[in-house]
Amino acid sequence: MNNILSIYKPNEIAKYIRLSLSDDNINESESIINQRKIINEFIEKNGNEYTKTKEFIDDGISGTNFNRPGWINLLNNIENNNIKVVITKNLSRLGRSNYECSYYLDYYFKEKNIRYIAIQEGIDTKIEENSNNDYAALNNFINEKYSKDLSKNIRKVYKIKQKSGEYMGSIPLYGYIKDKNDKHKLIVDPYAANIVKKIFNLYLKYNSQNKIKEILYKEKVLIPEVYKKTKRGLKVKDIYNWNIRTIKNILTNEMYIGNMVQNVHSKKSFREKKLIKNNKEDWIIINNTHEAIIDKNTFNKVNRLLDINYKSSKKDTYLLSGLLYCKDCLSKLGINKLNKGKYTYLYTICNNYKKNNLCKSHSNNYIVLEKTILDNILNKISNYIDKLDYLNIYNSIEKKDNIKILEELNINLKEIDIKLEKIYLDRLDDIISLNTYKELKKELLYKKEYINNNIKDLSKDKEIDINKIKDDYKIYFNNNIRNFIVKIIDKIYIDNLHNVSIYYKVNIF
Ligand SMILES: [Zn+2]
Repeated sequence: MNNILSIYKPNEIAKYIRLSLSDDNINESESIINQRKIINEFIEKNGNEYTKTKEFIDDGISGTNFNRPGWINLLNNIENNNIKVVITKNLSRLGRSNYECSYYLDYYFKEKNIRYIAIQEGIDTKIEENSNNDYAALNNFINEKYSKDLSKNIRKVYKIKQKSGEYMGSIPLYGYIKDKNDKHKLIVDPYAANIVKKIFNLYLKYNSQNKIKEILYKEKVLIPEVYKKTKRGLKVKDIYNWNIRTIKNILTNEMYIGNMVQNVHSKKSFREKKLIKNNKEDWIIINNTHEAIIDKNTFNKVNRLLDINYKSSKKDTYLLSGLLYCKDCLSKLGINKLNKGKYTYLYTICNNYKKNNLCKSHSNNYIVLEKTILDNILNKISNYIDKLDYLNIYNSIEKKDNIKILEELNINLKEIDIKLEKIYLDRLDDIISLNTYKELKKELLYKKEYINNNIKDLSKDKEIDINKIKDDYKIYFNNNIRNFIVKIIDKIYIDNLHNVSIYYKVNIF
């Protein structure tokens, strides 16, 4: 693809160079000089005169602040129709977050008819078939790993607070209320506690969450949100209509046997509001912190039953579930299980054949099929996976997030100082006893030290082992292969002669 730039006037081409705060001096390859050099070479190689092109620079001085003067200047130029091409060294120069990049890439540039080129990823938005545009989809996948790593770090901050056994939630669980004298303590709310007991007993009796829902409805038991008035502003369609999920959450919540269960959810990343459920091993459970509503025996019995019922209702999901289609009649291909003595045999079958006796069976050994298809995909992307600039991704994200975490911890420190001052004043005014004062002070100082140690830890410059980062990625990739496949594959068609055609959502292949 030579001379792709020769069709433009030099002043229609914009180079955008960005040095972000997180780059510091650690990454020579991202220096302004280096970015400029790479872009200039690219322009020259592709048939234009780089000396006459426009250059926009943000040198990172503005830091985390939202102003990017160079970028804003570039946008103004685009708005005035002065620019037709924007070139950056790589995609991460374009925006500071994945979200920002996607916005410019998927919407803004399209709308303004701007040809955008990221040299290192080979992204060029002008060439329709240019497969590399869709590397963005792969980059998304890669970035998800960061979000996950990141949420670990957020948990770190929270754990520091939670480990001291404080109840951190703002609204206590149904069945409990906050102690008026100590908002970090939970006490039993007799009415709601009775409903909770009823729910457990009903499950033991009927073994069905739907039945519980039915009974609660008949008996006009207010749903928790309404009972606790947490949805005051919102319209609730039916105030007695219990959600099955709510019932399930109650039946499985260890809080009811007196244990403090926290860190169940976390934000996917600082950029998102949505909560995701953490793995159970990451939950922080402290036993016997408050009065139980349900005895352990009942709780265990119910949860064993739930487990059994769940397992028997769950359908198997295979790597290619939902992606297989019959090429001849376009129906879905199901994955069926056949038990033959000791062995289980998995095979595909056209749904149209199975249900209507039309079409043909399209029976394939699923295990063989899966391996063939997986090999095919991995072959095609292995190059991409190997070529990724791991160090750069790692640096740009990890560093930035460390800054956020440090900010958060520092706010925490300030809060503790304020509390220290407050208890000191309370002591002076004789609002609290000397003993209470000493205890509170001890606790606060302990927390302060804990946080300070964490700050020290995070501030250290870590040695970076590129091979370890790469391995981390490969492990992540292997552990999330289904997730990845669903992301990149649209449909897999199989014809009667066992020929496979894979249709990708992205054009990279
Ligand atoms: Zn068919």
